[in-house]
Amino acid sequence: MASEPIKTGGKVEPLRKTRPCPECGKASSREHYPFCSDRCRTLDLSRWLTGSYAIPVAEDETKADGSDERD
Ligand SMILES: [Zn+2]
Repeated sequence: MASEPIKTGGKVEPLRKTRPCPECGKASSREHYPFCSDRCRTLDLSRWLTGSYAIPVAEDETKADGSDERD
């Protein structure tokens, strides 16, 4: 009963179910989620800035500059 095939040979399994990095397709890290590294995050951000992506809503930008509305 000890001849069961192991399917996890050589495959690195993260603690949680992670999505692949949208930039390079590697496993994303929790630190740079949803990207695998800071480099890919920057690459993706530059794409946003160049207009390759459809920008939904920049929530952070609105909140960061909301102090001007108070008077
Ligand atoms: Zn990546």
